[in-house]
Amino acid sequence: MEIYQKIKSAFDSYKGKKQIIGRTEGGRELFAFFAGNAGGVTGICQYAIHAREWVTALLALEHISYGLSLGGVWFLPLMNPDGAELCLSGLSSVKETKKREFLRRVNGGTDFSLWKANANGVDLNVNFDAGWGRGEKNLYRPAAENYVGESPFSERETQALRDFTRAVRPDFTISYHTAGEEIYYRYKQPPLQAARDQKLAKILAKSTGYALGDAGKSHGGYKDWCILKQKIPAFTIEAGKGRQPLGLSALRDIVGKNLHTVRALIDGWNYAGYENKIYEGGDPSGKEGGA
Ligand SMILES: [Zn+2]
Repeated sequence: MEIYQKIKSAFDSYKGKKQIIGRTEGGRELFAFFAGNAGGVTGICQYAIHAREWVTALLALEHISYGLSLGGVWFLPLMNPDGAELCLSGLSSVKETKKREFLRRVNGGTDFSLWKANANGVDLNVNFDAGWGRGEKNLYRPAAENYVGESPFSERETQALRDFTRAVRPDFTISYHTAGEEIYYRYKQPPLQAARDQKLAKILAKSTGYALGDAGKSHGGYKDWCILKQKIPAFTIEAGKGRQPLGLSALRDIVGKNLHTVRALIDGWNYAGYENKIYEGGDPSGKEGGA
C-alpha cells in the first residue's frame, strides 16, 4: 500500500478548507484538512509522525469524514510521509542513490518495517524545542528511532508543524501514535494548568476506554512543546495494542475506539468552557477545586 498516495488523493478530492503546510526532504507534501466550523474551539490533530505508526493516518481520514458540529480542527494525517513510505515499501521509496545508501547503513539492513524516523534518521518526535536532547532514550547520531537531530527544529517536518501551529494558534492539540491504549497529557505544567488538562484528558479516556498514563522521561515531543511553549492542553494518544508495526489489521479496533474522540473533546470543552476561562485569569468564585 502507498499511504502517501492515499492521503494525497483524499486531499486532492477534499472539498473543505485545506492547505499544504510544507514539504519533506524527499519532496513529499504535508497535508492539512480543516473540518468543522471556524470561530469556535480550534484544534490541531496530527498523525503518524513516527513512520511505523502510519496506520493512524487512516484513522485521520475517518476523523475528517466523520466531521464536527461544534468547533473546528485541522487534521494533519501524515506528518512523516518519507518515513512511512520507507516503512511500507523499503528503499524503493527513496529516489536518490546516496540517500538510499545512507538509510541502509543507518538501519543496518533493508527491512524498514520498524523504522520510526524521517529520511534523515531523525526521530521527529524528539526534535521539538522542549527539553530537547534530555530524554532518557535520546541518541545523538542518525538512527531508526530516538535521534534528536542536530538542533531543535532541524527538520523540515517539525519546522512545518511548528510554523503551522504558531499560525493557527489552536486551543488544543492531539498527537496520534501507536500503541499501548494510553493517553499522555503531562509535561511540567503548573498546577492549575495541569488540573485543566487532566479534566480534558479524562474526556479522551472516557471516549476511548484508554487509561491516562505518563510518558515518563521523554522530552522534545510535539505535545511537550505545545504544553511548555504554547501553554495549551496537548495530548498524545497511543492507540491500538499489540506488536509493532500494527498494520492494517489494527485499524478496525483503533477506529472503533477513537472515531468519536475528537468530537467528544470539543463537546466537553464547550460544556466546561468556564474552567478554561478561569485558567486565563477569570473569576474563580464558585469553582470547586481538585480533579
Ligand atoms: Zn509514536
